[in-house]
Amino acid sequence: MQATAPPHIVIIGCGFGGLAAARGLARADVRITLLDRANHHLFQPLLYQVATAGLSAAEVAAPIRHILRRQRNLTVLMAEVAGIDPSRRAVALDDGARIAYDYLVVASGATHSYFGNDAWSRFAPGLKTLEDAFDIRRRVLTAFERAERESDAAARAAWLTFVVVGAGATGVELAGTLAEIARHTPPGEFRRIDTRGARVILLEGADRVLPPYPPELR
Ligand SMILES: Cc1cc2nc3c(=O)[nH]c(=O)nc-3n(C[C@H](O)[C@H](O)[C@H](O)COP(=O)(O)OP(=O)(O)OC[C@H]3O[C@@H](n4cnc5c(N)ncnc54)[C@H](O)[C@@H]3O)c2cc1C
Repeated sequence: MQATAPPHIVIIGCGFGGLAAARGLARADVRITLLDRANHHLFQPLLYQVATAGLSAAEVAAPIRHILRRQRNLTVLMAEVAGIDPSRRAVALDDGARIAYDYLVVASGATHSYFGNDAWSRFAPGLKTLEDAFDIRRRVLTAFERAERESDAAARAAWLTFVVVGAGATGVELAGTLAEIARHTPPGEFRRIDTRGARVILLEGADRVLPPYPPELR
């Protein structure tokens, strides 16, 4: 009698959700294919520290293959999913390849939103990926450099003014870290500017902010 192959589970995404699903199935009699467009698992809660040059990328990201290397029932593929065909039980990749599945776990996360103010995207990138964090870091560090080169006082002050829109957890953390950079840059590194004079403005529409803490701690 021929043994039937164990069911094939495809997991899209190796963030917190996909990783938990993969690990939860470690002892199951299944074949797992884990797809992620990045080769690393990212600890998003500390991404703002990369954006403000407090941490390096390696401190918040780890190779997915390395994390799951001991899980014998799982194969990691770096691939971008372009679509899902539920009627054929197949996942379509952006290069045209298809991967059939018996069960599908979609853990591809969420994207950021400007809540109808898409024009802001030019000035304020999202903060979900390492690339986003590098982009923000480049903008922040460049602002200090441009201020140092500026002879006009008003223009210098403008370069040293940072506005963070939204005082949720990420906004508060980001604003606080920007203030820390300004305060802790050793005096003397810049000749024309005193980074301690930088202004960080945190804008929030609600009159109070509910951090993601349990109700008893609010
Ligand atoms: C700056 C920041 C700070 C945060 N701080 C906190 C905090 O303090 N506490 C807290 O509890 N939560 C925090 N969060 C939220 C938390 O990080 C997220 O809720 C969590 O990461 C979501 O996990 P996920 O697996 O759903 O998605 P993600 O972690 O976003 O993972 C999705 C994965 O899917 C992959 N992917 C997406 N699309 C495709 C595709 N088409 N093809 C292939 N792969 C794809 C991505 O590469 C990624 O690896 C924070 C988030 C951010 C951005």
